[in-house]
Amino acid sequence: MKNSHVDWNYTSVNDNYTSQYTKSRAVEMTRGKMLGGSSSLNFMVYVRGNPHDFDVWADTVKDKNWKYEKVLPYFKKSERLTDSVIRSSHYGAYHNYKGYMGVQRQYHPDVDGYMQAYKELGNKIVIDTSTGDLGYTQPLFTISDGTRQSTSNAFLSPIKDRTNLHVWKNTLVTKIIFDRKKNAVAIEALTSDNRKLTVKARREIIVSAGSINTPQLLMLSGIGPRKHLQEMAIPVISDLPVGENFHDHQGVPLAFKMGKLPSFQPPQNPHEIPVPVIIGYAALNRTQSYPDYQNFDLVLRNPAFLLGFCTFVFGLEDALCRQLNESCESHEVLLAVPNTMHPKSRGKILLKSKDPKDYPLIHGGYYSNPDDLENQATYIEDVIRVINTTYFKKANAELVRFDLPACAGYEWGSREYWKCYSRELLVTVYHYTGTCAMGSVVDSRLRVSGVRRLRVVDASVMPFITSGNINAPTIMIGEKGADMIKEDNNIVCSCNKFL
Ligand SMILES: Cc1cc2nc3c(=O)[nH]c(=O)nc-3n(C[C@H](O)[C@H](O)[C@H](O)COP(=O)(O)OP(=O)(O)OC[C@H]3O[C@@H](n4cnc5c(N)ncnc54)[C@H](O)[C@@H]3O)c2cc1C
Repeated sequence: MKNSHVDWNYTSVNDNYTSQYTKSRAVEMTRGKMLGGSSSLNFMVYVRGNPHDFDVWADTVKDKNWKYEKVLPYFKKSERLTDSVIRSSHYGAYHNYKGYMGVQRQYHPDVDGYMQAYKELGNKIVIDTSTGDLGYTQPLFTISDGTRQSTSNAFLSPIKDRTNLHVWKNTLVTKIIFDRKKNAVAIEALTSDNRKLTVKARREIIVSAGSINTPQLLMLSGIGPRKHLQEMAIPVISDLPVGENFHDHQGVPLAFKMGKLPSFQPPQNPHEIPVPVIIGYAALNRTQSYPDYQNFDLVLRNPAFLLGFCTFVFGLEDALCRQLNESCESHEVLLAVPNTMHPKSRGKILLKSKDPKDYPLIHGGYYSNPDDLENQATYIEDVIRVINTTYFKKANAELVRFDLPACAGYEWGSREYWKCYSRELLVTVYHYTGTCAMGSVVDSRLRVSGVRRLRVVDASVMPFITSGNINAPTIMIGEKGADMIKEDNNIVCSCNKFL
């Protein structure tokens, strides 16, 4: 669904430094433009992050309600896990089996050899990383009965006939309206046939437009950095660092050419994810209990998928993808994407103009802190040790050497080479966060500072990105935010059996 009408089709501003071997010379920032948002086109991997993430988060915002033990019930609340192995293990108590959103585990025999190889390097094989265990695992997916569990499918569909729920599809919210006392009292929106709507709020307004559009909407409404709003001739209602603190998990693709494939490939089962996935969480200091990087691996047996990932998902130049395809012809390929869990670099979202239909400017800021580039090179070095394991040796595995003229001045495989490679082939893992961060733009009850009756409830409020894919943490924020709204509005609800 990338690059289709259900994708916002954002691209970052070319920084002339990173991603220069992508077709757009920038990062293609896919975003779902439909009910369920990005959960309707994401890769469906279910990851919660590490307990340490939430403890640091709680300390930063000085509110113990964001500590791991306090957010865990909200992870559980939405989940409906269908996995008897995890259920009967010591992980079982950390899951729920009756929530709205189905979650299931991958069991794929094609990943066993790879898992053993990573084990040989000193990593653990774990059946579940939801409690923060490091190691390599077959992931959980937000899939149930062969159906994607987008937030729309899982949460909206079962209640869509409620008389107090109204959804305007294909409608762009363009502005939040405040009264003189800075109460958010209404929103303005444009329908697909350009009709202007004004919708009044009796209690409060909740913005959940995601890490790119939420800051855009706030800034269009007068909430943002004073200087930038003045440049845009937008009257300032609250001077806040909206749009700043943008961060993401950046990754780099590595392709391992494995053994020759048999000439007959069994037909694809249409109810399975077409590509077996392995996810590893590793810390360089093996005594550390939270990960430095995630290694997202895809086992590719079909050349169409290899090309698809190269040219379409990563958006790499055609010449590179052709080279990859030709050098791996008739061979299995392990595509590994080590990605940095705790980037120090920060980018920002700025308005391009006052026109709500104009896309905002996305400055990714990737590697603006040089530590991130050093670390990314280190993570590559850590992952490619796998080439010396028994399984890889037996398969005569080779790491594909892309022809990168920009890195030709460095010896292949040297540290400087990997830094160059990390810059030139940087790809997003699509985890944009932090642009309306808790502690600076919203308080720990998700209320926008300096105004009243306005909250943000989406991935933009994370002060720090969590250790892994962020769909489940964003849904956790939604669950927790919902309770805060009910509490602050004195709405009594008896549904919180997990709390
Ligand atoms: C290609 C891709 C793959 C991913 N894979 C995974 C994965 O496997 N696992 C994982 O955990 N995470 C994954 N993610 C990340 C995860 O899906 C997102 O981070 C998460 O869905 C973000 O949720 P959100 O509510 O903050 O924003 P979004 O999901 O982006 O939702 C925002 C919604 O608001 C709407 N909107 C925006 N502006 C306006 C406006 N002005 N008026 C009206 N509506 C508006 C949007 O159309 C959208 O529907 C992936 C993301 C992408 C793009």
